[in-house]
Amino acid sequence: MSKSIMRNFFYSSFSKACVLSIFVSFIYFGIWERFSILDIPVLKIEDLFFKVRQSILPLSPAFKKFILVVVDDESLKRIDEKWPFSRKTFAEMVNVIETGNPRLIALDFVFSRAGDPADDFLFSEAVRNSGKVILASFVDSEGNYLLPFDELRSAAKGCGVVNKLLDPDLFVRRANLFYLSEKKQIVGWPWELEAAAFLNGLDLSRTQLAETFIRVPSHQGSEKELKLNFYDHKMFKINYRVRASDIPQVPLWKLLNNSNLSSEFLGKIVLAGTTSQILHDYYHTPLGLMPGVVVNLNMLENFLEKDLLKRLPQVFNILLFSLFIWFASYFSLRYDILRAVIFLIILTVAGILFCFFLFCVNFSGNYFAPFLFGSMIFLMISLCRYGLLFFENVRLRGKVVTDPLTGLFNRRALEFHLDMELEKLSKAGAQGSRKLDSLREISFLMIDIDNFKQINDTYGHSFGDDVIKMVAYQMGINTRADDLVARYGGEEFCILLPHTNKQEAEIIGEKIRKGIEEQKVSYVNQIASFTISVGVAASRTDNLPAPRALIRAADMALYEAKRAGKNKVVLYRESLRS
Ligand code: GH3
Ligand code: MG
Ligand code: MG
Repeated sequence: MSKSIMRNFFYSSFSKACVLSIFVSFIYFGIWERFSILDIPVLKIEDLFFKVRQSILPLSPAFKKFILVVVDDESLKRIDEKWPFSRKTFAEMVNVIETGNPRLIALDFVFSRAGDPADDFLFSEAVRNSGKVILASFVDSEGNYLLPFDELRSAAKGCGVVNKLLDPDLFVRRANLFYLSEKKQIVGWPWELEAAAFLNGLDLSRTQLAETFIRVPSHQGSEKELKLNFYDHKMFKINYRVRASDIPQVPLWKLLNNSNLSSEFLGKIVLAGTTSQILHDYYHTPLGLMPGVVVNLNMLENFLEKDLLKRLPQVFNILLFSLFIWFASYFSLRYDILRAVIFLIILTVAGILFCFFLFCVNFSGNYFAPFLFGSMIFLMISLCRYGLLFFENVRLRGKVVTDPLTGLFNRRALEFHLDMELEKLSKAGAQGSRKLDSLREISFLMIDIDNFKQINDTYGHSFGDDVIKMVAYQMGINTRADDLVARYGGEEFCILLPHTNKQEAEIIGEKIRKGIEEQKVSYVNQIASFTISVGVAASRTDNLPAPRALIRAADMALYEAKRAGKNKVVLYRESLRS
């Protein structure tokens, strides 16, 4: 490969984008991600995916097997008891549900202390007779297990922990898959796992705990084994599919008043819990505020249908991220801003759709950082590119209108400004402006260095240049900021004096002439001095409305100054024409 091809490659947008993509990926995955700065936005984007998926995908038939028995606001009002209701009421509830012959009755209430012995007995008998009741236990903030009272617990088929984990934004997204005692021994399983094991005829005492998963093996009479991978840190990530409104609900007060309702429970998985806001069993979830029992339902469905969220392998996260950064930088380096923005929008939409697809096939990943960093990189590169372009433009424009030797405006700039000033003047005249006379006048000076050829011949060309610079300097210090001083060509200069009448212009011309006359320049061992001649014309006074006429008039006055002996300021007058 030839050297120039290699060099072209290294300076191409392609390779620059590669370098940027590797660099930014390193910064993000090597440093940024370790500080968990973006954890919450990453989760929020995934929450959005949960919501979109829930609203566009039809409800899976798997949910048809669920029914909720709920303690709602109406039940609190209509049932003639204070919350918590008596165990007798719960006994009746279990009895009515049981007459419908469901597959499972899972209660999301904790009956921790023994109560009225007669009621406790009734309740325990109802649970024992049913033979398919799962109870709830709870770990309080001090780590104590609140278990159902002994008589009840021994009557039930299982008892699981209903706790969930809270993320920093107080959302419920994860749960533990096992609970350990202080001695690191397993003391409990999640409520949902107890329910799933019962439904599949599995024996939880045979559960195997591995590094990355737990496995409840199958045995005689049971269905398939249950294997659950940890999402991270030995936790399970709930794959939310349904809201409370997606599942049929039977309010407890109706159930107790109308035993005909029991037919609804035939072959169903019945989950009982509270949905009254007053009882505070509500959680923030990706699908919105949700009663605890519906959170449990989602998790139970995940177990039963093996509908499990997996972590997108980090390699894919990195790949997704660096690919997006590469495209974002390539577009911004390679194309003009409009096209680059269109490409970026198309790429972002495609990227988000792809991420959503990954999510729909149960891969949970970092679907936020690629788009955030991609657009940031894009914005930064575009700003730099257009910032540089802007300064380059300003610099070039300066070059086009200035004279390199003196830094004064050149002839092109002078003519442009003269056009503009005369136009302004004619407009003001048309509007009958009553401004002071001098405010409505433009004067013009044409200046030429006397005997400059001789200066060049005597002292050399470079000294001639210094003289030109000196004259430019004198013109600068004797004019105002509004005046335009230009090098017309060679050793000729012009000064455009807006809002200046002819007498004022003559004074300025005289000041410059004197300044130059008095300025001594040393050359080797001699002192040299120079003079200039100045011609003055004024647009209104001399009735010279066109730029060319004004310049010509000043030039005629200058010629007259030369003719009359040089080192003079001469005003234009009509008689100079002939
Ligand atoms: P007059 O008093 O009648 O104006 O005589 P002059 O010698 O000044 O006029 P002339 O037009 O005969 O000579 C101008 C000279 O200026 C000719 C040219 O070589 C010189 N010149 C033009 N531009 C430059 C420049 O940028 N640098 C230098 N050193 N000399 C220049
Ligand atoms: Mg000259
Ligand atoms: Mg000349």
